[in-house]
Amino acid sequence: MSSKSALITGITGQDGSYLAELLLTKGYQVFGLVRRSSSGNSSRISHFSDDIKILSGDLLDQCSLMDAIIEAQPDEIYNLASQSYIPTSWTQPSLTAEYTALGVSRLLESIRRCKPDAKFYQASSSEVFGQPDESPQTERTAFRPRNPYGVAKAYAHWMSVNYRQQYNLYTCCGITYTHESPRRGAEFVFRKITRAAALVKLGLLNELKLGNLDAKRDWCYAKDAVYAMWLMLQQQEADDYIIASGETHSVRELVECAFSCVNLNWEDYVSVDPAFYRPDEPVQLMGCIDKIRNQLGWQPQHSFQELVELMVEHDLKALQDQP
Ligand code: NAP
Repeated sequence: MSSKSALITGITGQDGSYLAELLLTKGYQVFGLVRRSSSGNSSRISHFSDDIKILSGDLLDQCSLMDAIIEAQPDEIYNLASQSYIPTSWTQPSLTAEYTALGVSRLLESIRRCKPDAKFYQASSSEVFGQPDESPQTERTAFRPRNPYGVAKAYAHWMSVNYRQQYNLYTCCGITYTHESPRRGAEFVFRKITRAAALVKLGLLNELKLGNLDAKRDWCYAKDAVYAMWLMLQQQEADDYIIASGETHSVRELVECAFSCVNLNWEDYVSVDPAFYRPDEPVQLMGCIDKIRNQLGWQPQHSFQELVELMVEHDLKALQDQP
C-alpha cells in the first residue's frame, strides 16, 4: 500500500469522485478541494466522505489554493476542476476563462511557491483541437480551439507545459476525449440517451428528440480515464498524453445499442429535432493512443458496448429504486 497523499480539485465531479476511489484503494491519503455552495454538492462522494479530507477552496481564490496545498502537503495534485460544459462557455465566457484558464495559473503558481516537488496533473481536453487538420489527433496535432472552453483549456495546457519547462515542475497534461459513466451529468448526450432508454422501458417517456444521428464521437469510460491520469504521475519524467478510446461511434450506434439493452427498437421512439441539429464535423475528433499505449502500457479496459450496457443498467436500476 502507498503512503502517498494527493489533492484533487473537482472531487465532487465525475472524474474527481472516481479518481478519489482509485487512490483510496491504493492507500493514498486523499484531500479534496471543494468550493463553498449554499446547498452542497456531495452526491458523488458521500459514500466515501469519511475516508477523505475536504479542504475549502476555489480556483478563483489564490490564497485558498495556497492554504490547501500547505495543509495537505500532497505528493500529487490533480486539477480536475473546471467549468466543463461547452454551451455555458458561450453564455459565460469570462467566467469560463477565470475557472478553466486563470484558475490553472493560480494553481501552478501556488504549487511553485508552496510545494514545488508535487507532481501535477492538468485535465486538458480534446476541445483544444477544435477543428483539427488531421484525424486521428496526436500529441503533436496543432491546437485550433473553436469555443471559449477549448480556448481556456488550451491556455491551461500551455501554462502547465511552460511551468514544466521554466520552473522544472513535474506537470503533465492528459488530453482526454469524451468520457462517460453513470456519474456523468444528464445534460451530456451519452447519459441523455442511456437514461432515455431506461425511461422508455419503464413507460415514463415515449419520445426522445436528438440532433444529428450521424455525428461521431470518441467515447471512453471515466474509470479507464482516471486510471490513465494516475499512471501519468507514476513516471520518472513528466509528459503529456492523449487519453481516448482511439475509435469513434455515431449517435445512431449509441441509440441503437442503448435501446437494444432494454429490448426495444430505437426507431419507434427516437426523432430528429432540427433545433438540436448540428452538421457533422469535416474532420473527426478521434484520439490516437499510440503514445500512452506504447510508453505507459495503458489502453481502455471497457468497450463501447460494455459502457452503454453498464450505463443503461445503472439508469434502469436508479429509476426503479426511486420511490
Ligand atoms: P464535472 O463533473 O463538470 O466536474 C467539475 C468539477 O469542478 C466539480 O467538482 C466542480 O465543483 C468543480 N469546480 C468548478 N468550478 C470550480 C471552482 N471555481 N473552484 C473549485 N472547483 C470548481 O467535470 P468532469 O466530467 O469530472 O471532468 C473533469 C475535468 O476533465 C474537467 O476539467 C473537464 O473540463 C475535463 N474534461 C472532461 C471530459 C469529459 O468527457 N468528462 C472531457 C475532456 C476534459 P462543484 O461540484 O462545486 O460544481
